[in-house]
Amino acid sequence: MEREELAPHVREIARVLGKDVDEQAIWKELETYLNLYRVSLETAKRSIVKKLGGDPSSLAKGTRKQIGQLGVSEQSVDLLVKVITVNQRDIEVDGTSKPILYGILGDESGTVPFTAWDADRYAFGKGDVVLIRNAYTKEWGGQPQVNLGNRAIVEPQDPGAVSIGEGQGPYYQEPKEVRIAGLQDNMGNVTVTGRVMTLEKKSVETSAGAKTVFSGTIADETGKVQFSAWHDFELKQNEVITIRGAYVRGWRGIPQLNFGERAQVIRPQVKFPGAAELSRPTARSIGDLERAGGGIEILVTGTIVDIRKGTGLIFRCPECNRVVQKGSCRIHGTVSASPDLRIKAVVDDGSSAMTAIMGRKITESLTGIGLEDALRKAREAMNPDVIGEKIEGKLFAQPVELVGNVTSDEYGLMMIVSAAKIVVPEVREQAAALLATMEGST
Ligand SMILES: [Zn+2]
Repeated sequence: MEREELAPHVREIARVLGKDVDEQAIWKELETYLNLYRVSLETAKRSIVKKLGGDPSSLAKGTRKQIGQLGVSEQSVDLLVKVITVNQRDIEVDGTSKPILYGILGDESGTVPFTAWDADRYAFGKGDVVLIRNAYTKEWGGQPQVNLGNRAIVEPQDPGAVSIGEGQGPYYQEPKEVRIAGLQDNMGNVTVTGRVMTLEKKSVETSAGAKTVFSGTIADETGKVQFSAWHDFELKQNEVITIRGAYVRGWRGIPQLNFGERAQVIRPQVKFPGAAELSRPTARSIGDLERAGGGIEILVTGTIVDIRKGTGLIFRCPECNRVVQKGSCRIHGTVSASPDLRIKAVVDDGSSAMTAIMGRKITESLTGIGLEDALRKAREAMNPDVIGEKIEGKLFAQPVELVGNVTSDEYGLMMIVSAAKIVVPEVREQAAALLATMEGST
């Protein structure tokens, strides 16, 4: 990106951070995030504001969306809409009554309920066309609801800027039928069909008191997803269900399906793959996982393109399991640390790359280096780093198949590997094929 293109973003970060900020420092940070970490501009801005002690939610993202595109947890969104209905009522806040506005907003793509939390700040009426900036959304009955909080700005617009036919609506977002691999954080009003693979009932504390939640995983041919049902739909393990009116929340990037009493659960009479078939890990490309944000029980086939620092023989604190440096844990001080083996690798499958973390058992089976063996070699060399170098020698540029859960954060995707193997060509099959052709030729 050119310097002049970045300038407004640097000013925007400076605005959020306040007046005493050094713009040169922001330039340097922004270039590091974009060129070295290779994250998106949005992620870079949020990360820098957070790092320099500001509030990332104060960044005006200026994401203009249509109602049909709204997710259930938008942080800051701009909407060009027609006010279809608007009403006022009073709510109690800290013992005093305060007026709020509520009603329906519409555009060419749909309609959505809204709440404006301070009626005195706004002067719009039924039929007005307005540009709302910095609104946020919350989930209500599986659908987004627009909220105008204290950062919201409402600007009057030309009445012709939104054309909705007479008598159109009210309809909220159209339901979307989505396969499990297509679920993404923030989606509202999705319809998903899957087999209930695991199911448990538990009690959780919410802001509204203790609630019973039915959670587990459901699967289709494209993958598995964890779900939480906030209402008793009498779900049963192994049955195939269609959920209408669910919404998606991300946990460390992994999409999770939620549905409450306003959702609908039906039992479709359809042919569906059995539990045994669905319990296998699902093959996904890293690029696809990047779009989804993560996933559970994923199979990735790729090549090890880098072995990271922290690979090899490491020592862990017996109290907290953190890796210790020179016998000292940063929480517990000098401890008698226990040895462990670990691999931190970068795996690339051509579509994108992810970090893969492998524990002792997998490290031993992939490299043939056991823990005792590693300790002996490190003693002989009087240097624990030799193990990391040996692992690098064995694994660098190897094609691998990895299974695990994939999460994401501002530094990208990470798999905690639960099973791994080096992919070797099918030697026996090739030999058999070769023998067959030789036999045929004699
Ligand atoms: Zn410790």
